[in-house]
Amino acid sequence: MRAIRRFTVRTVLPAALGDLDELAHNLRWSWHPATRAAFADFDPALWQQVAGDPVAFLGALDRARLDALAADPQEVARVQAAAADLHTYLEQPRWYQRQTGTGLPASIAYFSPEFGIAAALPQYSGGLGVLAGDHLKAASDLGVPVVGVGLLYRAGYFRQALDRTGRQTETYPVLDPDGLPLTLLREADGTPARVTLALPGGRALHAHVRVAQVGRVPLLLLDSDVPDNDDAARAVTDRLYGGAGTHRLEQELLLGVGGVRALRAYTRLTGTPAPEVHHMNEGHAGFLGVERIRELVADGASFGTALELVRATTVFTTHTPVPAGIDRFETRVVEQYVAALDEKGDLPVDDVVALGTEDHEGGDPLLFNMAVMALRLTGRANGVSRLHGRVSREMFAPLWPGFDPQEVPIGSITNGVHAPTWVAPELTALASRRMSAHDLATGAGWDAAGTVSDAELWGLRRRLREGLVDDVRRRVRASWRGRGAPAADLHWIDDALSPDVLTIGFARRVPTYKRLTLMLADPERLEALLLDPLRPVQLVVAGKAHPADEPGKRLVAELVAFADQHHVRHRVVFLPDYDMRMAATLYPGCDVWLNNPLRPLEACGTSGMKVALNGGLNLSVLDGWWDEWHDEGNGWVIPTVDGVDDPGARDAAEAAALYDVLEQQVVPTFYDRDPADVPRRWLAMVRHTLATLGPKVQATRMVADYVAHLYVPAAAAGASLGADDQSGAAALAAWKERVRAAWPQVRVDHVDSGGVTGPAQVGDRLHVQAWVALGDLSPDDVEVQVVHGPVGPDDEIERFEVDALTLGDAYEADRYGYEGEVELTSTGPFGYTVRVVPRHEALTSVAATGLVATAT
Ligand SMILES: *Cc1c(COP(=O)(O)O)cnc(C)c1O
Repeated sequence: MRAIRRFTVRTVLPAALGDLDELAHNLRWSWHPATRAAFADFDPALWQQVAGDPVAFLGALDRARLDALAADPQEVARVQAAAADLHTYLEQPRWYQRQTGTGLPASIAYFSPEFGIAAALPQYSGGLGVLAGDHLKAASDLGVPVVGVGLLYRAGYFRQALDRTGRQTETYPVLDPDGLPLTLLREADGTPARVTLALPGGRALHAHVRVAQVGRVPLLLLDSDVPDNDDAARAVTDRLYGGAGTHRLEQELLLGVGGVRALRAYTRLTGTPAPEVHHMNEGHAGFLGVERIRELVADGASFGTALELVRATTVFTTHTPVPAGIDRFETRVVEQYVAALDEKGDLPVDDVVALGTEDHEGGDPLLFNMAVMALRLTGRANGVSRLHGRVSREMFAPLWPGFDPQEVPIGSITNGVHAPTWVAPELTALASRRMSAHDLATGAGWDAAGTVSDAELWGLRRRLREGLVDDVRRRVRASWRGRGAPAADLHWIDDALSPDVLTIGFARRVPTYKRLTLMLADPERLEALLLDPLRPVQLVVAGKAHPADEPGKRLVAELVAFADQHHVRHRVVFLPDYDMRMAATLYPGCDVWLNNPLRPLEACGTSGMKVALNGGLNLSVLDGWWDEWHDEGNGWVIPTVDGVDDPGARDAAEAAALYDVLEQQVVPTFYDRDPADVPRRWLAMVRHTLATLGPKVQATRMVADYVAHLYVPAAAAGASLGADDQSGAAALAAWKERVRAAWPQVRVDHVDSGGVTGPAQVGDRLHVQAWVALGDLSPDDVEVQVVHGPVGPDDEIERFEVDALTLGDAYEADRYGYEGEVELTSTGPFGYTVRVVPRHEALTSVAATGLVATAT
């Protein structure tokens, strides 16, 4: 019979074991093997049964068992030691507390639509969420005072299975928050703290706040499934990326606006400092800026002043160069929602709506674009790899007309991954037994063959592969049972895959640009690789297609159809329901990680980093992080044929290149063995990967970069603009308004050059003089620049440099004379131009105001 209500009955722990509750509810267990072992050793079978979920484990331990454990002094001592270790971790100063610079923010809010912390808290769909989880964990390890903000989805992302024919099916198991590692945020009187948003039509959207403790970092998750809501409002947080239109818009309003309100409640109830910097992980959280503007305006600031304060202290990370990955809503619908939100009428609704309106060239002014709003709400934006930074500058260049794409104010910080989460505990144990902390941190320990022998390293790599093979067999059997196969037909699975065969992994979400089926382009060539009698290859593939993505689902079905064939099924498997739990065995068990997106659509990619941390080698097109960090010794590049427009031809060419690399390089290196059957050349690449990529791909490196390059400067800018009753922000807003009003009169009237007589030579100095009209502005308001460099056939200046001209004494008829020198440093065609841009010490980039007057 189907229950109409369900809830979780929590265990009352015996006093001696009281610490278990904190150990289960602080998600540090997810990256602390010793804490997990403390749970598992109580009852290894039960631990397996609950798939390593401490809250479920405690719920499943019966009273008698708990009393017996509580009476065992050794068990009690072990729990207390684990709790003491956690308290040390939570309370002792860490990296951030040792930083000496000034202006370190006391709190940073990190907003994300999804968080992948652990499989036991399934609130992620893929890379974006797992990255957010790793960001929080690394912040915790470094002691960076981050507070996470997100939504609590009742069904998380969907669970994937296969039907009889091999097509993906989706289910949405409903989660019970009381069975998750969460604590309800409560008012002093014990009632749940509540966040409310006014919606159009007099409706209200209420949410409770559930707090996940991620080591030192609290993560606030808003949950709209509360009694006071109408049915539609209750359903706002039903699913991750489930809906479209207003459902999605309401989710994003709850995340951004509700998130700021949740932070205010959390700060008030816990006495923790208010965030000085707000970080939007992708544009979905952009409405946080609107709410912060509303707060400031309600406190008396002008819209312009509020916007400057928000821009100075907001960080935006863009994650996708795929336009379909960006949320857009009808402008008029957003307008209704913003008007409704602003119950007291504080906000100039038109100005708010204008922030996200696609009024740029190539945009659609009827649409409101979350990335556009985010970019206009921040002075500090970044992509997630060097290449993605460049691609983003080009993609968003229409928002800064008149500037070259390379001047678009979007930088980059390359993603990283949280090593304690992703490195196999066996590898961590081996390394920490043999290496000093310094050798571990710098990777130096892996270079010295003396610390860990080749035989030992190879033995460990084999055990990790074997662990994967075991897990694969279990999963493939369960999948076939689910597809209706009788157990008697499944004996072949006992020998599916082998712990001694070169293992290639490919697991990721299945948007078409990731090209799940590229490897199938030439089935005969692939089969020859799989079935080679002496040097075979085996493939482990996984990935979920978004439920609404029919082409993606067809790719899954195609892959499954290939893997189902009798003659290859022992060498290629598709594992349904890719998640963090599967990933934990998959990444360490693979020898090679395959990545073949359509370049440059993979912004960064992080799974290959997790594989590298485990001594796996990457085989990837030069996209995302691999474009930046591949070298001769850490894997292989799949050559791409950028610029070929016919997608079929492009896929065929790149697939052929993939097979070539496999046949000629990867397979021979793996099977090149010494007399003891150890692949020396392969292991040299493994060591090189661990030694050189290991330190770079760390999430701690990433978070430290965010602190140094974005958080600290943003906090400093906020402090400076906010001081003396926000006088800096008010002055900046007034200055911008004045400059904007006067700008139509600004122009470069006349440019002269001299100093180079006869044919120009490298080393010559060109004297540039320009006459500039400034209208009502003064020379203090602007910088006059000469932009110069080699020119192409179309007279475009490529790789240009910018130098400021200086104001001369000449002034005639409203025009100022500027001059300066340019040194010719390269041969070939050279060109220059002169332009005027606004100048103010608070501007974060030359393009920040969007204003420029260039010589014509
Ligand atoms: C790391 C990870 C991802 C992201 O991998 P990409 O290489 O960025 O596609 C997706 N899902 C899970 C479960 C992960 O652990």
